[in-house]
Amino acid sequence: MTASVCKYRALWRSGRGTTRQASRRPRPLATHLRLLFGLTGLSLACGGEAEVATLSGGEGSGGGRSGSESPIVLRPDRILDGRGGSLTGREVVVHGELITAVAEAGSTEGARVYDLPGTTLLPGLIDTHVHLGWHFDRETDRLHSAASTDGPQERVLYAAENGWNMLRSGVTTVQSVGGPEDSPVRDAIAGGSLPGPRVLTSIRPVTAGTGDPDDIRAHVDEVAAAGADVIKIFASESIRVGGGPTLSQEQLDAACGRAREQGLRAVVHAHGPESARRAALAGCAQIEHGALLDRATLQLLAERGLYYDPHIHLIFDNYFANAERYLGIGNYTAEGFAQMDAAVPVALETFREALTVDGLDIVFGTDAVAGAHGHNWKELVYRVEEGGQDPMAAVVSATSLAARSLGLDDTLGAVEAGFAADLIAVAGDPTVDIRSIERVVFVMRAGRVYRNDPVTGSSRR
Ligand SMILES: [Zn+2]
Repeated sequence: MTASVCKYRALWRSGRGTTRQASRRPRPLATHLRLLFGLTGLSLACGGEAEVATLSGGEGSGGGRSGSESPIVLRPDRILDGRGGSLTGREVVVHGELITAVAEAGSTEGARVYDLPGTTLLPGLIDTHVHLGWHFDRETDRLHSAASTDGPQERVLYAAENGWNMLRSGVTTVQSVGGPEDSPVRDAIAGGSLPGPRVLTSIRPVTAGTGDPDDIRAHVDEVAAAGADVIKIFASESIRVGGGPTLSQEQLDAACGRAREQGLRAVVHAHGPESARRAALAGCAQIEHGALLDRATLQLLAERGLYYDPHIHLIFDNYFANAERYLGIGNYTAEGFAQMDAAVPVALETFREALTVDGLDIVFGTDAVAGAHGHNWKELVYRVEEGGQDPMAAVVSATSLAARSLGLDDTLGAVEAGFAADLIAVAGDPTVDIRSIERVVFVMRAGRVYRNDPVTGSSRR
């Protein structure tokens, strides 16, 4: 452990006790610090405690992590840096929770080495739109709803299970939009007692039912005080009932304006052009879904610097695959499913159009709901294979670009010294065959190994 890294650790640790009680403003800093403090095992990193490295096979929260004795070295065939670069002949050095070097392969002395032949190492995926707590009730095997009999304690467990399933599949950070069960799961993961991805959550959304602009500002203050990392706003109907606008310009101005005053980003559910246009004018940060957007609106998003987070496959595919578990609950009607069926080619066409809009930042999100957690990668495959996105651009959208959309691009989303050691290895090369993104064999988050499957083929060790 280098002195400088230990110094930073000490800094984080000294701040750790005060952050929770401190004023949460300015928000981006508070959010940022929480994620930094959430890098688990600070005492291990600069202490002298013994540890166990799992060098082949096995997985779990007790996997190897780097402590003071020696760094961990990851030696894949190639490295995608998350920003569009591809490197060979390099190894990644991890100390504690951080990447400390990207060095010439074989050059690091005294390290415990994870040989990962046949793999590509890249930053862990960042999904900017999931619903962490959505689940099928064990009793009924149907979507959790108001009629369900389970309580908050069960919902927290479902959220934890969904988090674990996503982490194992290579997702190391999620933005959940969002339920009250997210907060304890986020905090337990950040504290190191629960395996899962880093979680940012909106806790409770702004909807048309929230009320007039004053009510909306009060709501934003409330969820900010409750520890929300982001504000989620429903500004249009569901695609199942047409996707028309549900909030006025004044309501959106109030929601996104107040969010900014609280130092929070506002992400906006908006299917049709009018709702997205209002959100752009209100200074919101990101448009979710946007299946029905036209070119002029996509250009407006680019001009105004909003991120566009389209969901064009996993959400539909998962609903169709689990139709029996959704049908008859809320607006999951036969007609609603027909609307979704009709929306599939429209959403795909909108995505293709978006790819041609100069300066539009298309970020990775899936809208993972009950049944979809751990299948997030399917969205990337579809974007490339059906949408025509360049595979490297797809990888960047789920790593450095997604990190930037969260305001965390100096910490997450890249393979670079000083960044969080959130790293995954996949068999093959996703820039040649995007389907290799499914073949996750190694998952590290905050320097801890959660998955390390034997890589088939000859080992170089
Ligand atoms: Zn959603």
